[in-house]
Amino acid sequence: MDLLKKKIREEGVVLSDSVLKVDSFLNHGVDPQLMDAIGEEFAGRYGDESITKVLTIESSGIAPGLMAALKLGVPMIFARKRQSLTQSEGLITSKVYSFTKKEENTISVSGKYIHEGDRVLIIDDFLANGQAAWGLIDLAEKAGAEVAGVGIVIEKSFQDGGGNLRQKGYRVDSLAEIESLEAGRIKFKEDKAA
Ligand code: 5GP
Repeated sequence: MDLLKKKIREEGVVLSDSVLKVDSFLNHGVDPQLMDAIGEEFAGRYGDESITKVLTIESSGIAPGLMAALKLGVPMIFARKRQSLTQSEGLITSKVYSFTKKEENTISVSGKYIHEGDRVLIIDDFLANGQAAWGLIDLAEKAGAEVAGVGIVIEKSFQDGGGNLRQKGYRVDSLAEIESLEAGRIKFKEDKAA
């Protein structure tokens, strides 16, 4: 997705060989026009997949997840990283190790909002080692829903999350794939021929 890649090139900050900061448009500040285009792109790719829900995780998955849900005409639900006092009945949980925060979180969704019969599109901001995506897949499957695919805004292809998911037969759609962040340079994977 050219608009996204342009934004990453112009505003992305390489923090190390494995971490990219995109606080200006995705992880802190949020660019509504870009999110609109991202939602459109995911909806285009999954429009024929009979999606009934978009499932994401707070907080940075919410903006792209919401726009994808809006364009697909379905509700969005976000997994919580901390249990809220008002959220206790029918809770489905999974454990996720956070790549950026280096801590384990128990993530949860209410079985009220996702259940058997749902066909789910999972959305997240980044794909690194795949922990967040596997946690969301686990939640959806524990709820009895079917996972149609995983939509990622930025995949770091040099980490093994995407490869593992595809190997296990999950469809993964990433809008920008980064091959390397070495020497402070953002190198994108060559675009696949259309
Ligand atoms: P994974 O669970 O695939 O190892 O990591 C994905 C999660 O970690 C994403 O939800 C994202 O919040 C965070 N993350 C992983 N790598 C990066 C990165 O390079 N930059 C930022 N901003 N977040 C990342």
